[in-house]
Amino acid sequence: MNGTGTFAGQVALITGATSGIGAATAQEFARRGAIVVAAGRDGSRGAEVVAAIAAEGGEASFVAADLCEPGAVSAMVDAVLERHGRLDHACNNAGIFDRMHELHRYSDESWDEMIAVNLTAVFQCMRAEIDAMIASPGNVSTGRCIVNNASTVAHRGSVRASPGYVAAKHGVLGLTRQAAVQYVRHGIRVNAVSPGPTRTPVADDLVAEGPDVVRETLSLLNPRAEFVTAEEVAQVTAFLCSPAAYMINGHAIPIDGGQLAGM
Ligand code: NAP
Repeated sequence: MNGTGTFAGQVALITGATSGIGAATAQEFARRGAIVVAAGRDGSRGAEVVAAIAAEGGEASFVAADLCEPGAVSAMVDAVLERHGRLDHACNNAGIFDRMHELHRYSDESWDEMIAVNLTAVFQCMRAEIDAMIASPGNVSTGRCIVNNASTVAHRGSVRASPGYVAAKHGVLGLTRQAAVQYVRHGIRVNAVSPGPTRTPVADDLVAEGPDVVRETLSLLNPRAEFVTAEEVAQVTAFLCSPAAYMINGHAIPIDGGQLAGM
């Protein structure tokens, strides 16, 4: 599989690649020929993702990074450059979810944690990735891309998610648009995906409540009343990085079964 496909010879960094959407995204990029660097904190799950990619004939390695630790983001991007000498695509996917809390009872600690992982780390990743992409050898017109994982709650308020989560995801959308405007002249496109409720470990709590509760909850959030799959998000992310998306820049693509269309 290596050496062929849309991303043949290109290097893709995926954060939060040890689980859920990030693991599926790492696999999708490798299937399309990219050399993948999968980032996360959990080394054993990282090794499983790398092994699954290798089993399909793809190329991947793991880099351990807690994105909230000082210096971790630069060390992660430096590791990509040391291993491969270039960075073509970056998917800033790592994130944590926080269920609904009333804003007037929401703690500083929860706010700080949500903003640190879901917004500040995305900013720091983009800063280091853009620097690495500008410095990477080759013709930038082949397309260098960043895709941030936002959410449908980047576009609206939510009765299920906390103020910190919703504010951070709105911030991700702002960063996406700002960088898209600034870096298109460097040949770097920046977009986001906005998934609705997706069947990853984040949804385990809801699933544990049983199929009736799942159906009722999803029917309020998504006209299809079904979970999005991690693979569906991965495929849209890969499309956004492909030459077919050459003129798509600064947008967030909802993957939501029509949820936002009904608002
Ligand atoms: P997940 O299965 O829980 O995966 C989250 C990933 O983020 C893991 O790989 C985790 O790595 C990583 N991560 C968390 N904190 C980190 C930190 N401090 N440093 C480095 N990595 C960290 O969640 P998911 O559902 O796939 O979500 C992925 C992204 O999609 C998130 O940004 C989320 O907000 C967004 N999203 C999810 C949904 C949904 O319904 N699932 C909907 C819309 C948007 P380790 O475990 O190795 O630490």
